[in-house]
Amino acid sequence: MKIGIVGAGAMGSLLGFYLSECAEVWLLDPWQAHVDAIEAAGLRCEHDGVESTRRPRATRHPAAIGPCDAVLVLVKTHQTAWAAEQARMLLGQEDSERGRQGNLAEGISLSPPLPVSPSRTLVVTLQNGVGNRELLAEQLGADRVGQGVTALGATLLGPGRVRHAGQGATIFGAAPDRAGMAALAGLFAACGLPAELSDDLDGLVWGKLVVNAGINALTALLRVPNGALAATPEARDLVARAVAEAAAVAAARGTALPYPDPLAHVLAVAAATGANRSSMLQDALRGSPTEIATINGAVVREGRRLGVPTPVNALLTSLVTALDATADARVREA
Ligand code: NAD
Repeated sequence: MKIGIVGAGAMGSLLGFYLSECAEVWLLDPWQAHVDAIEAAGLRCEHDGVESTRRPRATRHPAAIGPCDAVLVLVKTHQTAWAAEQARMLLGQEDSERGRQGNLAEGISLSPPLPVSPSRTLVVTLQNGVGNRELLAEQLGADRVGQGVTALGATLLGPGRVRHAGQGATIFGAAPDRAGMAALAGLFAACGLPAELSDDLDGLVWGKLVVNAGINALTALLRVPNGALAATPEARDLVARAVAEAAAVAAARGTALPYPDPLAHVLAVAAATGANRSSMLQDALRGSPTEIATINGAVVREGRRLGVPTPVNALLTSLVTALDATADARVREA
């Protein structure tokens, strides 16, 4: 199977590393030094203190890749429109019969032989937040754009180097092409990455959104690792208010969250990942645009549509949006 990965930051690189074990993988990213390092010496991945090297291909130019069986989108939210343009150039082989061999509709093949390719190019986002899939679908067609959520964790260590920082399953929604999405999940599993297929994409996506809405913006604003939110009563109170609003919006849209007590779940995640710096904190510290628009911003937009008040998420969205906008003026200790 030929896989294009648009966005070779931490997560794109991690997936590229694993999938290159059993598929042809191309990483597409604008960061020249990263691309050059991978092409010159391979992609190095550190896991539990052990480093190994694999050789996915890397480029800045989609024309160098050509048509793919599946394209994974792993850019940050502000790059999603760019990713859609790049992904368009990786589509191809429409309506071929390649993917019709085998019986993938029955479920995920977890053992060799490897899953066969989807019958047409699928574009699948594993980005956090709500709004990326919608944008990709608008640009590329809802009938080819899928989504999943991943509990893997990754950190970029430098050009050509990534750390596998967190274990966890990747769950793919079954839409828009059950057999194709099953083939992709089967590929992940065959490459050593736990993967499942789910018919409840909305529950999965909102389940993760509520966690991110409770943790990410507050860690970025307070400049603390996740655990400090759970351990500090003043911070916990803010988490509780943001999570209650997000859960109320999920309920209003008829989405069943995959856990019974949203606040208890979010605090447990914050405690279990206590030493982690959330991606939003990392972006804020680096002066890179955060994903606030598709996290707390998505809660606000959906709340407005459904008539659910979301004043805390609205304030968090405004504060982090202003944090992004003032990155160049930040006062730092000499
Ligand atoms: P990232 O911030 O690592 O990379 C995003 C882009 O920034 C890439 O194009 C990358 O090349 C570029 N970049 C990063 N460091 C750079 C540097 N020093 N110089 C120049 N360019 C640089 O993004 P990510 O963490 O992989 O996130 C991608 C998507 O995956 C997001 O939607 C995120 O929410 C989601 N996600 C990430 C993780 C994770 O553990 N990283 C987990 C789950 C979901």
